[in-house]
Amino acid sequence: MNAQTRHTEPTPYQPRRLAARWPWQRSLGSRIAFTYGAVFLVVLALLLVRIGQVVYRAQIEEAEHNLELDAFLAANALEDPLNGYAAEFEAYAAWELEHQEAGSEEEILEYKPLSANALAATNQVAERLQQIAAIYAMDIGARVTIMDPRGHVVADSVYPFYQVPNQLHQVEVQTALQGEEQHDIRTDPFTGQTTLYVAAPIQQGSQILGIVQLSRPMQAIHANIRRLLFQLAGTGLVALLLVTMLGIWIGRHLTHPVQELEQAALAIAQGDFEQQVPAQTADELGALAQAFNHMVAQVRRMMEQQRIFVANASHELRTPLTNIKLRTETLLHGGQEDPLLRERYLTEIDAEADRLGRLANVLLDLSQLDETASASQLPPEPVNMGPNLIAVARAMRLRTNRAGLKFQALIPEEIPLRVWPDQVEAILANLLDNAAKYTPPGGEVTLKIQLLEDRCQIRVEDTGPGIPEEERPLIFERFYRLNKARSRYQAQEGIGSGAGLGLSIVKTLTERNGGRIWVESRPGGGSAFVVEFPLAEAPSASEAPRPAPSPELASQG
Ligand code: ADP
Repeated sequence: MNAQTRHTEPTPYQPRRLAARWPWQRSLGSRIAFTYGAVFLVVLALLLVRIGQVVYRAQIEEAEHNLELDAFLAANALEDPLNGYAAEFEAYAAWELEHQEAGSEEEILEYKPLSANALAATNQVAERLQQIAAIYAMDIGARVTIMDPRGHVVADSVYPFYQVPNQLHQVEVQTALQGEEQHDIRTDPFTGQTTLYVAAPIQQGSQILGIVQLSRPMQAIHANIRRLLFQLAGTGLVALLLVTMLGIWIGRHLTHPVQELEQAALAIAQGDFEQQVPAQTADELGALAQAFNHMVAQVRRMMEQQRIFVANASHELRTPLTNIKLRTETLLHGGQEDPLLRERYLTEIDAEADRLGRLANVLLDLSQLDETASASQLPPEPVNMGPNLIAVARAMRLRTNRAGLKFQALIPEEIPLRVWPDQVEAILANLLDNAAKYTPPGGEVTLKIQLLEDRCQIRVEDTGPGIPEEERPLIFERFYRLNKARSRYQAQEGIGSGAGLGLSIVKTLTERNGGRIWVESRPGGGSAFVVEFPLAEAPSASEAPRPAPSPELASQG
């Protein structure tokens, strides 16, 4: 025990939080919400990019497909009117061919036809086709261009047909001439806009009467895609908002038990050891709350033990002090006159002072044991405890002889144990001391040390009063003593001076050396204290079943 008195003021608790780099790092809840939001945002961005690509491609494909379909339908629908004017158309084509040979495209356009009839017929066809092109263009919302099989434009829904150059070299026209449909995206020379073109052949049987070409600016398709992507992004943002709100809620829900723990810890720091935190969940937080409650209960128990220990220790110290005080007072108030009384009192004061000294030593030992309890480590190398334990038993023989007791000991010479020798010697000395102390004269004390399969068993038996079953677990507690009726056998030089500390020290030492201790009733009365330590190595076959008694010690005391 530390004799130094220290006055310590309880330190007021000031939560000192580390500086956070970002505001959201200041609470676990906002960390969770932020993480949720950030993860969702990344996933959302990746999804939007991917969905955007897919939607863009699908929209373009759909636009192409629709235009191709429209071209096909237009070509089908144009088959009849073209056929109806087949003759005129052919005349027109022939006229065109004739003048094409004469010069360039521009010249043809400027050329005046020779035949008034032919010109009237071709004009009629052109007018009709122009009408059809305009109606179709309105229907499908695309520019419609009709051309003859040589690519000469004969009607256009937007521009005067003679301004539109020959389309024969265009990819979609070429494939249409082969009876197939194909689209192309290129810049419209009139508008300068990126435009989607498709063309379909106007066929009658295997004869290609002409080509219908449809075109639609990509701008409209792009606007569509943009609108779709905006809608997608909007939905994503709403989802992000919802996820962040969910994150905030989850964060609060998760951190609530942690805050309760913090409050409980602060209350405990203020000395309220009745604090309990509810363990409501089956997860780690629930386990943490349970562990916390367990810790509080343990601390409470330890503090209670400390309180009892201090109360018992003060009581034990007060008894000899009172005895000393009573005697000194008597001596000071005239008791010195009587030499016999003075002699007796001084002797008793001396004995009480010795008792106080021993008690102080035991308390010091105990506090040292407590300090090192957690740091205990066993020696790395095994020790042969045989000679040491034989020496302890020899020292005991004189004592039992004097007390009029019979003493028998069976100790093998080889006892390989991984223990601290002086501590195990102290254990045996204490047990033998108790046996001698509590056994009436004429009784018997027996020490049997056996090497069992994987352990060494030390049995100290006596023919004393024994220990009632209900008190057996209690005698290892500090300051615990059985009823005082037995104290007449007590010897004053006992380890705890009869303070009830010896067995608690023995138990602590046993456990620190990897062993265990218990007490049994001895058949025919008396008690048997049993200590077991794991053997450092297996005993040889001859030793294991029955230990050879040490001849010197086997003799009766
Ligand atoms: P003490 O200093 O009182 O002997 P211990 O811790 O050694 O303290 O023992 C605790 C109590 O256990 C004793 O007071 C005694 O009543 C009882 N006890 C211990 N050893 C024996 C024994 N061999 N026979 C009977 N009672 C015993």
